[in-house]
Amino acid sequence: MRGCELNVPYYPASLPNVVKFKNQARCALRGYAVRLTAMIKNEKKKYVVKRAATGLGLFAVEVIPARKRIIEYIGPLISNEELEQRRGKYFFGVNTKWSIDGSARSNLARYINHSCQPNAEAFITGHRIWSWSKRTIKAGEEITINYGKEYFDDHIKPWGCKCAACRNKPRQRL
Ligand SMILES: [Zn+2]
Repeated sequence: MRGCELNVPYYPASLPNVVKFKNQARCALRGYAVRLTAMIKNEKKKYVVKRAATGLGLFAVEVIPARKRIIEYIGPLISNEELEQRRGKYFFGVNTKWSIDGSARSNLARYINHSCQPNAEAFITGHRIWSWSKRTIKAGEEITINYGKEYFDDHIKPWGCKCAACRNKPRQRL
């Protein structure tokens, strides 16, 4: 890692850092930078960010078959201790020690909204987070995952869930 600004255990696919490293020929992460740039370019063809019922959302440009790995949640890997000192709502825990700070706009996966009946789900493999399709997702359809009970209770429930499944449900007692 000598000659590289990487002196903290950042996740290799960390975009903000990778961009910095691009011009550093000797950086050990140069290979990652090249691959990541290609990956993001490819993702930009397959997904589009646009207005959804709950703010911005991520939409499929082409049909996504069921049970396919679709998009990675990318960003610097930060320790959960450090997370306590940062602000933001795009932290995604990978284990008890580490989280990914997915707040960079180039992290398209951060635009995936919550749904109580999602068409995708997130899986953690090592220190990486990938969304997988649960069923066939149509071209033009919004991609959604279930954020989980803890997030739902803290950040969604108090204001009422606006996902498609909840919007179409007959109104229940308040
Ligand atoms: Zn809902």
